Amino acid sequence: MERYGHILRSYDIKPSYTRLLIYQYLKEHKNHPTADEIYQSIQQNIPTLSKTTVYNTLHLFIKKHLATMIMMDETETRYDLITKPHAHFKCMSCSKIYDVAVDVEQFSVEGLSDYVVNDAQLLYRGICPKCQA
Ligand SMILES: [Zn+2]
Ligand SMILES: [Zn+2]
Repeated sequence: MERYGHILRSYDIKPSYTRLLIYQYLKEHKNHPTADEIYQSIQQNIPTLSKTTVYNTLHLFIKKHLATMIMMDETETRYDLITKPHAHFKCMSCSKIYDVAVDVEQFSVEGLSDYVVNDAQLLYRGICPKCQA
């Protein structure tokens, strides 16, 4: 936990107990959770936790560039820590989200030079190897 406190501080985030637990969840699960999944899990440690606190904490992490939001569709938002650039693959059968490596150097995009880019996401959808078997 103390190790995580240092990380949060390095992003200019005061490491409260709730923030540490939410960070720890993202760090250790790497499962691209919804805010609800985080809430369900952390609530076991902090029974007084509100969903608003979870949302506010996630939005703070995003503002400080510690985490990112992945829009799966209009109704589903998931969260991920910002690590090295990677794409996501969503299995339409088991709903699991996999990280896929992307070579950013090889990835060429045209027509963006006049835009200020804050975030970029690459999402694949299909059937994972496990579900194909
Ligand atoms: Zn699957
Ligand atoms: Zn990811």
